[in-house]
Amino acid sequence: MSTHLTLIQGDITQQSVDAIVNAANSSLLGGGGVDGAIHRRGGPEILDACRDLRGSHYGKGLPTGQAVATTAGRLDARWVIHTVGPRWSADTDRSELLASCYRESLRVADELGARTVAFPAVSAGIYGWPMDDAARIAVETVRATETAVEEVRFVLFDEPAYEAFAAQVG
Ligand code: ADP
Repeated sequence: MSTHLTLIQGDITQQSVDAIVNAANSSLLGGGGVDGAIHRRGGPEILDACRDLRGSHYGKGLPTGQAVATTAGRLDARWVIHTVGPRWSADTDRSELLASCYRESLRVADELGARTVAFPAVSAGIYGWPMDDAARIAVETVRATETAVEEVRFVLFDEPAYEAFAAQVG
């Protein structure tokens, strides 16, 4: 079955989907950008679940390119899937790690049985990845990934981000 790619400009915390992907940092203990917005709107249950993960499986934090799910607290979604994008580097090609964020998030979504998943533009904010390239990697990777997820919704915060993704989706 093929996955339907949709794009919207807006706030990911407002999406009614099974799972929302968070561009987290390795600590899982909150940050700025989309991470801050998810924790603010979702409430303390998400942070409690993240602390539990740090106390059990991820004592050293979640490695870059991996993904893990928690409750979505008060958000409309059922789950938040936290993934850690790579910081942009002009010297080292970290594209494979960014692609891994999308692949691993979809793998976790499949484990959960999520059918609709919303992604932000991972790494393209505080982590500095150029938006056009972040959009290319996101769209190419989702298209190339085998998954039971029926809809992948890219939720872009501003118009330039939306345009960058629209150019890739065609
Ligand atoms: P990273 O540290 O992985 O770069 P950021 O959260 O800083 O993560 O940014 C990732 C992208 O998410 C950026 O394009 C940013 O504009 C966008 N963003 C920030 N807040 C939201 C939100 N509430 N909904 C959707 N996208 C958001």
